[in-house]
Amino acid sequence: MRDSKRIYLSSPHMGGLEEQFVREAFNTNWIAPLGPHVDMFERELAELVGIKHAAALSSGTAAIHLALKYLGVKRGDKVFCSSLTFAASCNPILYEGAEPIFIDSEPESWNMSPRALKKAFEDSDAEGVMPKAVIVVNLYGQSADMDKIKEICACYNVPVIEDAAESLGATYRGKYSGTLGYFGIYSFNGNKIITTAGGGMLVSDDEEAIKKARFWATQARDAARHYQHSEVGYNYRMSNVLAGIGRGQLRVLHERIRKKKHIYMAYKEGLSDLEDIEFMPIAAYGEPNYWLTVITLKQGCGVEPLDILQELEDNNIESRPVWKPMHLQPVFKSCRFYPFSDSVTSISEDIFNRGLCLPSDTKMTDEDLNRVMSVIRKLFKK
Ligand SMILES: *Cc1c(COP(=O)(O)O)cnc(C)c1O
Repeated sequence: MRDSKRIYLSSPHMGGLEEQFVREAFNTNWIAPLGPHVDMFERELAELVGIKHAAALSSGTAAIHLALKYLGVKRGDKVFCSSLTFAASCNPILYEGAEPIFIDSEPESWNMSPRALKKAFEDSDAEGVMPKAVIVVNLYGQSADMDKIKEICACYNVPVIEDAAESLGATYRGKYSGTLGYFGIYSFNGNKIITTAGGGMLVSDDEEAIKKARFWATQARDAARHYQHSEVGYNYRMSNVLAGIGRGQLRVLHERIRKKKHIYMAYKEGLSDLEDIEFMPIAAYGEPNYWLTVITLKQGCGVEPLDILQELEDNNIESRPVWKPMHLQPVFKSCRFYPFSDSVTSISEDIFNRGLCLPSDTKMTDEDLNRVMSVIRKLFKK
């Protein structure tokens, strides 16, 4: 079994045109940050998702950082953020010396609970200190309930940053994920649905905002012949070579989504007789990109997520625990947290305790899928 082909969680999957775009960069010697591929990648992505402006950056994390900066987040400010996410969603809050306040998930989509968000706003209102921004994460490729969240945020006049790092190509009520907030951010890290090895994009309909982000991302150089700086800048731009990969990847995004959905459906059907296994719920308001298929195990079923992870690993198959919620992380332990309800265990913690991300690699064959499922199956037939 050990020498069988390794099955990955979600690995880079080139479409074919990437090399041509990269070669073009080589042939024209645009081996630099910025260049024609960067401009085209920005335009093509903006067009695809239906937003006016985009800035290609070195990472999704950089995109969140610049969004926070543009919204004026400073030392001592508060920022609300989904708790069930990857640390990159909230680390930039600390880069600016601000304080994250974490919001629990709702059971319907595992994303930010509008009810918990409302409670957080009511408390902030009573204390007379509003957050400067709300970072809403679209987990594992599914949009949060943006209408409800935006309505609450609009009541208090607080802008939304949509962390769509995992949900490029997903929709919410007919609109593309990442285009529903004041800012949206995407990631092209190696394991995301499309990749540039590393990279990110900041998008908005606000032209000034995106221009300013590009300015900060290129060391905040003033418009002068000599090197003059009136503000602190960053080296956050995407390179022309990597943008070439991104342009090729954009062309296969919908093909990747179709395959990710096929993987999800295959697991769901293939494991349907195992009553102890449930799947991440899919809300009726949109269509996910099915980036990862995530299961939860029923409480007390006798099998733990880590048992499955170990058994899969023993069979050369990669899987991954669900994100550990931010409010349970040592680095954020002093931060406030708003649970979905007053019950002992929060929704996000419960999902973390019972959840597992199954291999969802678009290069998997149906045989590979069957191999994964037969390993899982063994653990439930004892
Ligand atoms: C991957 C990811 C990010 C960070 O993107 P990078 O490009 O790796 O910096 C941010 N938020 C979420 C939810 C992610 O999954």
